[in-house]
Amino acid sequence: MQVPAAFQYRKATTVEHALTLLAEYGPDSMIVAGGHSLLPMMKLRLAHPEALVDINDLDELAGVRVDGDWLAVGAMTRHAELLASAEAGRLFPILHDAERVIADPIVRNRGTVGGSLCQADPSEDLSAVFAALRAVLVIRGPSGTRSVAARDFFVGPYQTVVAPGELLAEIRVPLRSSVSAYVKVDRRAGDWAVGAAGAVLVVEGDVITEAGIGLTALGAPGFVAAEAEAFLAGGSPSEERLVEAGRIASRLCRPAADQRGPVEYKRHLAGELVTRALRRAMERI
Ligand SMILES: Cc1cc2nc3c(=O)[nH]c(=O)nc-3n(C[C@H](O)[C@H](O)[C@H](O)COP(=O)(O)OP(=O)(O)OC[C@H]3O[C@@H](n4cnc5c(N)ncnc54)[C@H](O)[C@@H]3O)c2cc1C
Repeated sequence: MQVPAAFQYRKATTVEHALTLLAEYGPDSMIVAGGHSLLPMMKLRLAHPEALVDINDLDELAGVRVDGDWLAVGAMTRHAELLASAEAGRLFPILHDAERVIADPIVRNRGTVGGSLCQADPSEDLSAVFAALRAVLVIRGPSGTRSVAARDFFVGPYQTVVAPGELLAEIRVPLRSSVSAYVKVDRRAGDWAVGAAGAVLVVEGDVITEAGIGLTALGAPGFVAAEAEAFLAGGSPSEERLVEAGRIASRLCRPAADQRGPVEYKRHLAGELVTRALRRAMERI
């Protein structure tokens, strides 16, 4: 059985305390939230923190609520909690579409929204979802609080703009009248995506005034199909245009071949999934 290398373990009691502990142990310390990604990586010796700062007791980072013009999701909100939030599902059905297909109840009961985003695994479903929603991520650190657009949060695979000594505190989604959906193809129920797409549309009359398209596991920079979004904005949501947006996303994404399929298949999937997500969103109007 694989075991991780030795590490120090400290349980934070407040966000300030967590930041103090991160400063005390330095750049080789890491936050542990649900532990569903970090602990397997430690066992495989792909991560070897000298200290873990546990933020599971920080109720101030948990929960889903409407806060003024925003839907605020605490970083420690469990997947199951987001799925159980009627308000989140009513405002942004894409959140429930995605949460329903993330792993299984055991993972969803423990894994957190913030952990998913900070892991920045190219196959993580919520990265594309919050990028499509144009969410803003609130990061706290020793010098205060800063906000970063979800689209600027991901630096590359397994890399984000969260610096050593900082933590992700909250995800904020701007409230607006929108329709949205997320569709995923996996090899079996609860598996990581072969590919997935999310769509968020603001439609006024017969014109799309805002389009957000997220892609999971399909090699889209920042998890976004930006050219397809630009094509849709300002035009009508006709079937032909939804299909064309899929074609654009398919042409411009850069999937990698792996055990889940070759490049050509994933590229085809990208186009099909984008069009399906857009259609499903429009059915909710
Ligand atoms: C069997 C299995 C199947 C899965 N299937 C899917 C799937 O289909 N789709 C999907 O999207 N995900 C899937 N996951 C991942 C799941 O969503 C995890 O919850 C997620 O990867 C990590 O969340 P966590 O809370 O466990 O984070 P952890 O494992 O605790 O942490 C992950 C990383 O984020 C950092 N971190 C965590 N929280 C913070 C914070 N607040 N601020 C700064 N850094 C932080 C940690 O230091 C670590 O680097 C699966 C996981 C498992 C075990």
